[in-house]
Amino acid sequence: MSYPHLLAPLELGFVTLRNRMVMGAMHTRLETLDRPLERMVEFYRMRAQGEIGLILTGGFSPNAEGLMEDGAPLLDPRAPLEDHRAITGAVHAEGSRIALQILHAGRYGRHKLCVGPTGERAPINRIAPRPLAASDIARTIEDFAVTAALARDAGYDGVEIMGSEGYLLNEFTAPRTNRRDDEYGGGFDARARLPVEITEAVRRRVGRDFLVIYRISAIDLVENGIAGTEVAALARRVVAAGADILNTGIGWHEASVPTIAASVPRAAWRFAIENVKRAVAVPVIASNRINAPEVAEALIAEGAADLVSMARPLLADPEFAKKARLGRSAAINTCIACNQACLDRIFTERAATCLVNPRAGREIEFSWAPAPRAKRIAAVGAGPAGLAFALNAAERGHKITLFEAGPEIGGQLLMARVVPGKREFDETLRYFRTRLAETGVALRLGHRAAPGDLGGFDEIVVATGVMPRRPAIPGLDHPSVCSYAAVLARGRSVGRRVAIVGAGGIGFDVAEFLSGDAEESLSPEKFADAWGLDATLSAPGGLRAPAAAAPRREIVMLQRRDERLGGSLGKSTGWILKAKLRRARVEMVQGATYRRIDEAGLHITVGGAPRVIAADTIVICAGQEPERSLYDALLRQGAAAHLIGGAHEAVELDALRAIEEATRLAMAI
Ligand code: NAP
Ligand code: SF4
Repeated sequence: MSYPHLLAPLELGFVTLRNRMVMGAMHTRLETLDRPLERMVEFYRMRAQGEIGLILTGGFSPNAEGLMEDGAPLLDPRAPLEDHRAITGAVHAEGSRIALQILHAGRYGRHKLCVGPTGERAPINRIAPRPLAASDIARTIEDFAVTAALARDAGYDGVEIMGSEGYLLNEFTAPRTNRRDDEYGGGFDARARLPVEITEAVRRRVGRDFLVIYRISAIDLVENGIAGTEVAALARRVVAAGADILNTGIGWHEASVPTIAASVPRAAWRFAIENVKRAVAVPVIASNRINAPEVAEALIAEGAADLVSMARPLLADPEFAKKARLGRSAAINTCIACNQACLDRIFTERAATCLVNPRAGREIEFSWAPAPRAKRIAAVGAGPAGLAFALNAAERGHKITLFEAGPEIGGQLLMARVVPGKREFDETLRYFRTRLAETGVALRLGHRAAPGDLGGFDEIVVATGVMPRRPAIPGLDHPSVCSYAAVLARGRSVGRRVAIVGAGGIGFDVAEFLSGDAEESLSPEKFADAWGLDATLSAPGGLRAPAAAAPRREIVMLQRRDERLGGSLGKSTGWILKAKLRRARVEMVQGATYRRIDEAGLHITVGGAPRVIAADTIVICAGQEPERSLYDALLRQGAAAHLIGGAHEAVELDALRAIEEATRLAMAI
């Protein structure tokens, strides 16, 4: 498949972008790791080598007040720019362009100097801001201009002024946060003034031949945000003030609507992006949940945008753009929007990487070199660990035979893929199928490997995964009881009243599967109804009341620990899942002791009081045990084998750990 619109260069007079693909700004925390410069040069160089048209860096604050947190990136006029020149030079040598994002965090700054339009604290920040005085505003405008000039000196092709996601400039544009009574607050003209004056000051300082991108909040998704007409008016004003391109941002960080998680349909925000596009003549960049070339192509071909921004998809596959150009989109390692290794790590003060590509951000740690000697290797089990090992080892030149007892590859991913919002795992399976074939991995499906099959190999890698744990509850053999695997993988029918024993990631997945609407993540209309989006953009912030939905089942989730359920869910996605289950009126019981199961249902005690949960179906989601029978048999015969993934350690196993562990072994073997 070809993508004529996506691959068309964009000629801007003083600079040409080689295609319409933009790597969106991401906070990666790479600067906090060892060898930060070397790491960042390689990180950006690889995305440029992968033929991305334009890279936007993570945000740099214009001054100390605008930092996200102490130690966050800032362009210091007194510091040498050599480090930046190493990055811009590497990107230019590969034929891509790079712009520096200027981000003033405003009242989201997690440090004592944080400032805002007023002293009102953000609901997601413990620190209250200091209100900016008029003199502070003049200095802030100057700081943006100085930072832009430094960026030009450092070899960047432009800057992006961050005006969305609820950061400082967005706080000035919305009545929600701008309750000032001076010339920067009140009516629309006054609220638009700071973004306009900053854009003008930046343009004046950098001259004509330098990209000035303004990232506008296309839809605020908060009460007292601005409506579509004001978004369009603001778009026109910042263009008149000197912006060459408008990028779009979706929702404030404090919004209670998911904007980039997997439960958001692909290109769901098209209606808000089109509103910006209709308002201006300059190129507009679409963003959020665009992870496939055909989705990107359609947005441009149908006139909704001129470019597409993809941030996480470039973590997942640095060669996204090159593979699209070569017609090899089936070989793209697709971002599944899980947030597990990127945002969830950033939110817990670790550097970002990627679940499907553990090399992301660690390009200098992983050996890309061919293996010194091609070995014959048997890998057993085609779940995430076995697949990642087989592919990475084959890419290094080893001859791999991959055994799988089931009829298809995937292991636990075959269960995850049926959960609403996890359909993207199909892309991961497509990627592995394509790449295993391309790298010549011999796949033995439907073959349960025995020690006798593994005799002639140089190395054996056992990735046989996990078995569901059977808790010791009397009556577990009752016909109403089944395991999560029977529900998710084998389509077992489930009654209207359900008890779920165990509330880890899989218990929540099962609850969502049984209560949710699988189509919500595929249908922008259903998504808008469920989360209360106003596609006409006439309401402030683009919000309306969500549509009421009748629960499909009566579900009770239980755990033994006496603490709130869902504590182990991802920071950036757990709240979404919990909100959905609240809407489905799922009851959550903590501190349960399981007594027995019989015709009446599940007998428990909670807080010393007995209770019977009448259930047609009781689904056991009580964790897993390693499946090591093959490994133990090999050991008994004195054969050496590597053990990876869930077969190695089932506790807290997830696809992230399985894929990383397997990739590291493939690099070392
Ligand atoms: P898990 O997270 O370890 O949860 C197991 C649950 O079973 C806990 O709620 C535990 O709570 C309960 N449990 C454990 N032993 C029990 C026993 N003997 N009897 C009764 N209950 C018992 O395991 P999981 O849900 O199977 O998930 C496996 C892995 O996949 C986890 O690491 C998880 O993070 C990952 N995963 C992640 C996602 C995601 O979206 N990120 C989705 C699915 C799975 P109590 O001991 O308090 O009862
Ligand atoms: Fe995408 Fe998940 Fe990788 Fe983040 S960790 S880039 S969301 S696949």
